[in-house]
Amino acid sequence: PFDVLIVGGGPAGAAAAVYAARKGIRTGIASERFGGQVLDTLGIENFISVKETEGPKFAMALEEHVRHYDVEIVNLQRAKALRPNGKLVEVELESGASLKGRTVILSTGARWRTLNVPGEQEYRNKGVTFCPHCDGPLFKGKPVAVVGGGNSGVEAAIDLAGIVKHVTLVEFGTELRADAVLQRKLKSLPNVDVILDAQTTEVAGDGQKVNALVYQDRASGEERRVPVEGVFVQIGLVPNTEWLKGTLELSKHGEIVVDARGQTSAPGVFAAGDCTTVPFKQIIIAAGDGAKAALGAFDHLIRS
Ligand code: FAD
Repeated sequence: PFDVLIVGGGPAGAAAAVYAARKGIRTGIASERFGGQVLDTLGIENFISVKETEGPKFAMALEEHVRHYDVEIVNLQRAKALRPNGKLVEVELESGASLKGRTVILSTGARWRTLNVPGEQEYRNKGVTFCPHCDGPLFKGKPVAVVGGGNSGVEAAIDLAGIVKHVTLVEFGTELRADAVLQRKLKSLPNVDVILDAQTTEVAGDGQKVNALVYQDRASGEERRVPVEGVFVQIGLVPNTEWLKGTLELSKHGEIVVDARGQTSAPGVFAAGDCTTVPFKQIIIAAGDGAKAALGAFDHLIRS
């Protein structure tokens, strides 16, 4: 068995692997797609000490750093079940094989909920984005739309209003679902319009870039067009934890509940990054979190 078995090869898993291997303990990392979400990212400008890089380049650097150490990498493997049985934790893979660890670190990340409307995929990274912290500055001085009136949508609109020219927030329901204090702040901003009861039906563009958001007014059935250069989709983040339901404590959003050391509800099972309850889903946060979970796991090993 591994001393530390990591499931998920994004920034959190890679950092956990480096930290664990540097303790001289037997470390393995199984992942479906090494690199994780950064593989789908164009520019990264907020990983401190790296002024700018590209997602695939960053993913390669993660893998290179991990390979520099004695880490067993099991690529292209999807985990389907976790069995914390006493001293050893077993991870069953979809291939039918199973791996065992004295401790396990789960770092399976998350994916953004998508609108599934025409143009959304076509214009991804050409105006359609999911991360205001990452891409807000790209739309400086331009009009944008935010889709989603929950906390993340309203926070995004407030954040963007300070950078872009104008924000149109589009919400499907008849009212915003964000906390009252956020709604008050939003209403105080001069360059934000809120459109309620509106179903986004298309992200339109000229073939190269986004130029409008199209929605249907659900009350009248009429179709309307908002000219924008950016569309921020903020309708939820879905953690990749479906396979853990019933085994570990998850939040109501499906995130793995962890304590300050990354410990989950099962002894010897740790978790890090976007798949957990840790607030703010960012590369640098996931990486720091992975390091923390590895140290937590090491601490657990020397005590048991
Ligand atoms: P992930 O990166 O999601 O990695 C999860 C890993 O787990 C992957 O290897 C995946 O294949 C694997 N996995 C999932 N399920 C299983 C399973 N059942 N079995 C085995 N393996 C599994 N953040 C920034 O800080 N700056 C940015 O500029 C930025 N831009 C972004 C742009 C885009 C388009 C996207 C999608 C995200 C962006 N983010 C950005 C967010 C950032 O990518 C994430 O916060 C970060 O990647 C989270 O790291 P993670 O290791 O927790 O999870």
